Amino acid sequence: MSLKILVYVGRSGKDCALGLLEDYLMTDATCIFCKIIRGEIPSKTIYQDDDCIIIEDLHPIAKYHYLLIPKQHYPTIGQMNDEEAEMLMRSIRRIPELSELLHLENGYRLVINQGEDAGQTVLHLHIHILAGQPLDFKC
Ligand code: 5GP
Ligand code: ZN
Repeated sequence: MSLKILVYVGRSGKDCALGLLEDYLMTDATCIFCKIIRGEIPSKTIYQDDDCIIIEDLHPIAKYHYLLIPKQHYPTIGQMNDEEAEMLMRSIRRIPELSELLHLENGYRLVINQGEDAGQTVLHLHIHILAGQPLDFKC
């Protein structure tokens, strides 16, 4: 971590170093989605902004299956703070704006698995976006 910060200081100054440290502390070193956000694991990125990234799911269960992943690391809804909740809501509101890009014109389903009984396998909150076909496996 310190090496990364030193490189950043050399390139762009103190403010950027603090920014990088802040970014690093918001992520989790061992989390798969944090690694994807940091570019350490490849993914098919469809969209990203300051708050979130939208990628294709590695194992799709619908014709179009994306994951909307907040850039800040928190495992569940219960563990996010007010600022993170606002960011998540901003990201959710992006989804219909990206309708054409994500092929959502005919409808879509959002799913958030929370905890063991729901089968959450990655403990970094994410929203599944399912589309492109009738989703006849109804909640
Ligand atoms: P959960 O079961 O936690 O709600 O969803 C985790 C999702 O992440 C699963 O649908 C799984 O296919 C997806 N996933 C796990 N590892 C990776 C990965 O390395 N890349 C991508 N693109 N998706 C992943
Ligand atoms: Zn994470």
